[in-house]
Amino acid sequence: MPIYLDNNASTPLDPRVLQIMLDIQKKYFGNPASVLHSWGWQAEEIVNIAREKVASPLGAPASSIIFTSGATESINLAIQGLRNKSPKRMIASAIEHKAVLDTLRYMETLGFEVVQIGVNNLGELDLDQLESALKTPTLLASIILANNEIGTLQDIKTISQLCQRHNCLLHLDIVQAYSKMVLDFSSTKVDLASFNAHKIYGPKGIGALYIHPDLSGELTPIIWGGGHERGLRSGTLNVPAIAGFGEAAALMVRECEEVTLSIRQLTTRFSKLIRESFPSSCLNGHPAKRVIGNLNIQVPGIDAAQMAGRLAEKVAISTSSACMGAKSSHVLDAIGLSAEEIRSTFRVGIGRFNTPEEIELAAKEISDAINKLS
Ligand code: PLP
Repeated sequence: MPIYLDNNASTPLDPRVLQIMLDIQKKYFGNPASVLHSWGWQAEEIVNIAREKVASPLGAPASSIIFTSGATESINLAIQGLRNKSPKRMIASAIEHKAVLDTLRYMETLGFEVVQIGVNNLGELDLDQLESALKTPTLLASIILANNEIGTLQDIKTISQLCQRHNCLLHLDIVQAYSKMVLDFSSTKVDLASFNAHKIYGPKGIGALYIHPDLSGELTPIIWGGGHERGLRSGTLNVPAIAGFGEAAALMVRECEEVTLSIRQLTTRFSKLIRESFPSSCLNGHPAKRVIGNLNIQVPGIDAAQMAGRLAEKVAISTSSACMGAKSSHVLDAIGLSAEEIRSTFRVGIGRFNTPEEIELAAKEISDAINKLS
């Protein structure tokens, strides 16, 4: 298999997480909604413990977490869940994930006005534009904390203050940042936040929506049925996946310092190797305010998609977000890159299971592939 450097698309399952999931799948098959016997109670207890662990990196109470099938569903619930509220106006940055952009497009069909806020050439939100947009009464602002393509981190404290000042709810897409950096929702007011397990070495198909206690009871569900998750998300809970999510979050918190250090060292080394091979290469996104492990590199003159395709058996990288497929990146477009610059850009996502040897070899393979193409 190729060396895996696409950790912004998804991460490998931590073997310790897998072990817990297997044990639970085998031994605790009860339905947490079964209230009349111990099979149900045990399953419910597993879910309760996981809920605490998932809430902990946000400095939030367990009761603020709703489990979903992934961040896409969480985002849909956060945005569509407000469809019966007013004012009928929502704001988002131009560099949101498609899950946000497409959901907002749907909200337009329901009569909502949707306003996009631009970013500068490093991917930072234009705060003046945001403030002026907020002068018109707005229900929700949806902002991606760490961009999945260029890694740029937004100034959440200021964004939160602006939203509060203008009485606008704030939804954050924290998928790429969750448990990789300190987030304290007890000191920074965030109303809603969407995230998942598969970007933190947990399983796919499980995510969560954080809901501020003040907003409890205010959302309208998008999935109806047995009234699970306080009536907000019906459907039998996926207990092994939820336990895996909790364990993955707990491991990230416990091992944060050493993992961060290792990923930083590997990322610095990889950047250095690419810059030595291609002095004209540059990094897209913010040079410092970026999520760990993400590199979005432009090597002038290359066809990055062709290069990534040629490399596919040796190194796994991407040209934009996994959800964009072969489509051109709206994120790179929003930071002002030309079509030619977008064509010569590739994304590398370094994760906790990458080794120094892999980094040396991957940088060499990428350099060789580029040299062969030019
Ligand atoms: N938001 C961001 C920033 C992402 O990177 C992703 C994953 O690709 C999503 C949302 C969607 O997450 P999920 O795969 O859990 O639906």
